[in-house]
Amino acid sequence: MKIAIIAHDKKKKEMIAFCVKHKDVLSRHTLVATGTTGTKVIEATNLKIHCFKSGPLGGDQEIGAQVANGQIDLILFFRDPLTAQPHEPDVSALFRLSDVYKIPLASNINTAELFFQTLQ
Ligand code: PGA
Repeated sequence: MKIAIIAHDKKKKEMIAFCVKHKDVLSRHTLVATGTTGTKVIEATNLKIHCFKSGPLGGDQEIGAQVANGQIDLILFFRDPLTAQPHEPDVSALFRLSDVYKIPLASNINTAELFFQTLQ
């Protein structure tokens, strides 16, 4: 599977902890991420991850383009619902595309944990 990893700033710690916990499973998949999230996860896990631009600089849209082209199978996007994001239109666009193409998207850690119960 090709998995996209994204976390808003206040959710990055949770994402790093999640990726550390599931490092073995993640290592068996192709991983892409927005720039800052990906860099931090690599630092913590040494996983091989292709990093796109930072989310506010277009990274969410780059991942959206991959979704539209059928190149993403699962999205982990830990969203911060309590902080205004300057790139909210890009965030909404990615969520929308995930529904257009019926790509599973975990917007919080507990949903991601459920997904990972079935992922090898
Ligand atoms: P970042 O982008 O990983 O570069 O911080 C995430 C986002 O806010 O979309």
